[in-house]
Amino acid sequence: MARVRKSRLIEVSLLLMLCGTPGARGQQAPASKPEVPVSEAAATPTKQEKIAPKTEHRFWDKENDWLFAGVGASRTLDYFSTLNLRRRGDKELLVTNDLVDDHAAFAVVEAVGTGVSIGASYLFHRYGHHKLERWTSIVHIGLTTTGAVRNYCLKTAHHPVSGL
Ligand SMILES: [Zn+2]
Repeated sequence: MARVRKSRLIEVSLLLMLCGTPGARGQQAPASKPEVPVSEAAATPTKQEKIAPKTEHRFWDKENDWLFAGVGASRTLDYFSTLNLRRRGDKELLVTNDLVDDHAAFAVVEAVGTGVSIGASYLFHRYGHHKLERWTSIVHIGLTTTGAVRNYCLKTAHHPVSGL
């Protein structure tokens, strides 16, 4: 009998331990639960802070390097196409002929145009409008190149090679 009682006691104590353990966990859980979101909440902003600068690129990254090079190239193309237009006796519509004929001054105008475009891109970048930042260069290249092509196409339809 004594042996049976002992084993029963062990059984009961084991049951209590088994039952008590989840109960203890259940009691601990509400206490620890608020801690988990707090630590997660504390960890989340630091993670975002680490990620945020990565998504925000450097201004002089590879894409902008190429875009600004494109703007410069299209401006150069515009410069030569306009001079070509003038040599053929046509008139520049956007700036005065005197300015175009002063090649150094006209080159400065083209350089300033490039600079203003890069400056606008920088402002968009600075205020977080990264798509507009890129599009400034893309639209500039598109419009300037179209203008340059138009310059070459004007009155050169009968001998287009000499225009280039
Ligand atoms: Zn940007």
